[in-house]
Amino acid sequence: MQKTICLLPGDGIGPEILAQGVAVLKAVAQKFGHDFLFEEALIGGAAVDAVDDPLPAATVEACRRADAVFLAAVGGPRWDGLAPEKRPEKGLLRIRKELGLFANLRPALLLPELAGACLLRADVAARGLDLIVVRELTGDVYFGEPRGVEMRNGLRVGYNTMIYNEEEVRRIARVAFETARQRRKKVCSVEKSNVLECSRLWKEVVLEVHKDYADVELSHMYVDNAAMQLVRDPSQFDVILTGNIFGDILSDEASVITGSLGMLPSASMGASGPGLFEPIHGSAPDIAGQDKANPLATILSAAMLLRLGLHMGPEADAVENAVRQTLRDGYRTGDIMEPGKTLLGCAAMGQKVVERL
Ligand code: NAD
Repeated sequence: MQKTICLLPGDGIGPEILAQGVAVLKAVAQKFGHDFLFEEALIGGAAVDAVDDPLPAATVEACRRADAVFLAAVGGPRWDGLAPEKRPEKGLLRIRKELGLFANLRPALLLPELAGACLLRADVAARGLDLIVVRELTGDVYFGEPRGVEMRNGLRVGYNTMIYNEEEVRRIARVAFETARQRRKKVCSVEKSNVLECSRLWKEVVLEVHKDYADVELSHMYVDNAAMQLVRDPSQFDVILTGNIFGDILSDEASVITGSLGMLPSASMGASGPGLFEPIHGSAPDIAGQDKANPLATILSAAMLLRLGLHMGPEADAVENAVRQTLRDGYRTGDIMEPGKTLLGCAAMGQKVVERL
């Protein structure tokens, strides 16, 4: 099958890790008889340097033409002083908006091979950690109007608006319930309806949508409690459904407790058009260009790209199995290194996965 994949290497370790993701996709194409066409485009600081815009129009067009978008990471101290519109991270926010990617799916899974890296007490970790955060990505306080900083009565005032319409809540709720149906059939909707009107509407709409998903168990939790429960007993969660800002924070928390930022993939999906697949970590400027980065989050993002973006389930399984086999065989990058294991650089780690495919 012929598919076009738009590559966005971005900044820092981006090009190094994406090269390994692409090597894995090429191996998949060969093994399963597919024809993947790769088209590379600029985003982030690299795009600012080249054309003074973190998301050039040509990149948006290349993404729209593709069947899936594969992004590494953007940002770095070099661009931190730029105006907000020019900052690399703005390119990321804009491409999500341009492609209508309203659903962000972030699995947090504690692999038995990496149990030693988990930040939780052993008895808590032993209960298991296998959840997915379904975060709304294009609304909420990050995009709500009015927003600004201005003078009021002689004082500087900063303000943003938390806002959701019912259709925005409905469509992300459906993604969460559909996702749960493929898993353990449990959705926990996280909001702050004891204080926020916006959250009250959220809960109301989630309850309405749930009527179409009677086979899925629904619970509700305030965000402050959810933050606590994630470290007390993450095994209680299957799918966490939440808005943009709460999801931003909770998905980072859920992933970091696994202990391995360099292992975690994500997918951002819209109603139609290509999805965007990327590791959850940033551009790691501190190790960029040193062949030290862990490419596995990017390679696992390639697996999500295959499964959700190109509907190639067996191909995705093959990539995930190759990653686990690589870990079982004792290969590690620096961030997940343990005594008695073999330390590898970014390129060699990617190569081990390719060999196991
Ligand atoms: P980061 O995720 O880049 O790095 C945090 C720490 O984790 C660093 O010590 C880094 O070396 C390490 N790390 C991250 N990925 C790793 C990997 N694959 N292998 C091994 N170690 C890894 O977060 P940060 O330092 O807060 O941000 C750096 C830059 O990345 C900033 O400009 C930030 O805005 C940007 N950022 C981008 C994204 C994205 O592109 N989606 C996400 C988060 C941060």
